[in-house]
Amino acid sequence: MQKIEKSKPDSAALDQINRFTRRALTADEVYTFSVILCDNEVDRDGERFTVEALQKLAELFVGKTGIFDHHASGKNQTARIYAAAIVVDESRRTSQGEPYTALKAEAYLLRNEGNAALIADIDGGIKKEVSVSCSMSGRHCSVCGADLYHDGCSHRTGEMVDGKLCHVVLSEPTDAYEFSFVAIPAQPRAGVTKAASTLPDIEKALAASDEVTLTRAVCEELTRKAAAGESYQKKLRADAVRLSHTLLPELSGTLADRIVSRLDVEELEAFNAALQKRASRPLCRPQTAAGSADDFDSSVYQI
Ligand SMILES: [Zn+2]
Repeated sequence: MQKIEKSKPDSAALDQINRFTRRALTADEVYTFSVILCDNEVDRDGERFTVEALQKLAELFVGKTGIFDHHASGKNQTARIYAAAIVVDESRRTSQGEPYTALKAEAYLLRNEGNAALIADIDGGIKKEVSVSCSMSGRHCSVCGADLYHDGCSHRTGEMVDGKLCHVVLSEPTDAYEFSFVAIPAQPRAGVTKAASTLPDIEKALAASDEVTLTRAVCEELTRKAAAGESYQKKLRADAVRLSHTLLPELSGTLADRIVSRLDVEELEAFNAALQKRASRPLCRPQTAAGSADDFDSSVYQI
């Protein structure tokens, strides 16, 4: 249901566009079009943006990119939003009885060979689904107003309660990431997707749904963190094996390796702490020894 309009940029639009370019582009070098990113109607996921949220998203989406298809081939086919605003159609009411309100973005593409086919597509009026990726910190039940991130309620999205459709009301956008055109929706839920941007966001999203959409930046961040975590676990394993060899020489190296390989990070930390504690105190205190255990030369003791 997305409407794409295209036009040549006037000088005001060109000025806006050139805020995002390395050198000033001329009107002939850019192709501009406008697109409805999202609106205040309940979407196919049973979610609805508030008008205030759309207004905030209009600010957040300026400067953000749009990609065409989710394929790598579209890597260089990126449009950029240079302006965005709310448009209200007073003659049209949503299912909730509000005036239809949409977030309309103005975007540009470079007119080059790589984008020629795409521009022809847009010129030809090819309809594409638009999906937007943004982070919302407010999710409330439309029936009882419950905070769905923290409390939840017994109402189910899609059911009718007292003649009203139960849905999720999305508010308080915290960031906008990108929009994308997909010729054929890749997922049954294609449409508006709300991406999680931080670990607490991901936890919240997972508490509310089995699916969570992540932005590329978050995926890269998580990949980095996962690599750091793996490296830490590897070090813990090496420490555990080394300590086992020292303190439990009866244990074969292979067996120690096998035991250690099954432990997760928390278990390894506890295991190593116990082994280190054992390493730091004598197992049998010589009768003649004086002073604290810390003073003893560990080589004196037998395990
Ligand atoms: Zn509810």
